[in-house]
Amino acid sequence: MKVGMGNEAPDVVVVGLGPAGSRAAAVAADAGYGVIAIERRAEAGCPVQCAEFVPTMIERDVPGVRTVTRQMVARMLTFTEFDSPDETPDFRGRMIDRAAFDWMLAAEAARAGADCRYGRSVVAINADGTIRISDGRILQPRVVIGCDGPHSRVGAAIGQINQALVDTRQLTVPLVLPHDATDIFLSADYRGGYGWLFPKGAVANVGVGVVMEERQRLKPLLAELFTRLSASGRIGTRAFATTGGAIPVGGRLRSIGCLGAVPVMLAGDAAGLTNPVTGAGIASAVQSGTLAGRAAVDWLGGNVTAVGGYEEELGDIFGAALDRALRRRREVLARYQGGGRPDARALTNGWIGSSNYWAA
Ligand SMILES: Cc1cc2nc3c(=O)[nH]c(=O)nc-3n(C[C@H](O)[C@H](O)[C@H](O)COP(=O)(O)OP(=O)(O)OC[C@H]3O[C@@H](n4cnc5c(N)ncnc54)[C@H](O)[C@@H]3O)c2cc1C
Repeated sequence: MKVGMGNEAPDVVVVGLGPAGSRAAAVAADAGYGVIAIERRAEAGCPVQCAEFVPTMIERDVPGVRTVTRQMVARMLTFTEFDSPDETPDFRGRMIDRAAFDWMLAAEAARAGADCRYGRSVVAINADGTIRISDGRILQPRVVIGCDGPHSRVGAAIGQINQALVDTRQLTVPLVLPHDATDIFLSADYRGGYGWLFPKGAVANVGVGVVMEERQRLKPLLAELFTRLSASGRIGTRAFATTGGAIPVGGRLRSIGCLGAVPVMLAGDAAGLTNPVTGAGIASAVQSGTLAGRAAVDWLGGNVTAVGGYEEELGDIFGAALDRALRRRREVLARYQGGGRPDARALTNGWIGSSNYWAA
């Protein structure tokens, strides 16, 4: 296709400005390439659809995380069927202001020179690698990086679709007493997911996730968890905000493909990099976005193996952990077959807090 009126031909198009997209855009723009990033939302990070916990190691990739931290987390408490909890000491992390975190990363991409366009979506990705935007423009990039989340259009264009998803519902509530742990609630009622209370200073994120097929149960399940926590005096009686969203839990997709002569890479949720057991995906989005940006730079610089190298690198970094999580998740789900339910032991064994989870 010729570059005509209203058409543009940047080196790189990044779809989505979540953590993965902002990192990819920043790295490619920083190397001097022309980057256009398209984001459906009017502003990066809003509305927040996240429980906002990140592991301490994210500081390596995002030193600025300190400035958006609302409180530190020291340990994890795992309640199985609401019994007294098992403690995982030294489970350290940060509770962040996710909107500020995403905004900070998007601002870094813009500072590096990426042309970040908000409030418009990618509506079509053609077989020749051209991209149609909701404002009518056609983009004709040399490289496409798909960072457009669990229901990635870029992924669909190269045949990579997150099939297994958990749906979630979360409330932000007043926290009565300060708390330094992430609380996890395992129950056979939370099929394919779990409940959580993550403290964030004077408030907490309280939520539930279950397999997409049972999403209609989320509202009553969350109401029940909220009532239970409220009755125990840990949280207030009124919620400030409700959110939710899908989490890919089917493990890694193939993160590279081709549309005509245009190489395509997927990063973050679009590449299925969320942990199938915990649902955590912020750190892997940041890391994979950075790597995808680097691979784009290398490929544009003439390294023809850079894109294949990206897929390999993701396998090296995330493969073993995601495969283990997928196995554990399937073991728990298998207990529901024939109308059964996992007992407390099966639920615990399927959670990262138990030593059995880490066994071969
Ligand atoms: C309720 C909930 C709680 C969670 N809690 C945690 C947690 O505590 N810790 C953790 O590590 N992870 C958590 N996660 C997962 C985490 O939020 C994701 O893994 C992370 O956001 C992935 O980043 P990303 O950049 O890949 O995708 P996203 O953050 O989803 O960003 C994708 C972006 O692409 C945009 N987009 C999509 N389609 C288009 C299009 N066609 N055109 C233009 N733009 C488009 C979207 O608007 C969005 O901004 C949670 C998820 C949910 C739903």
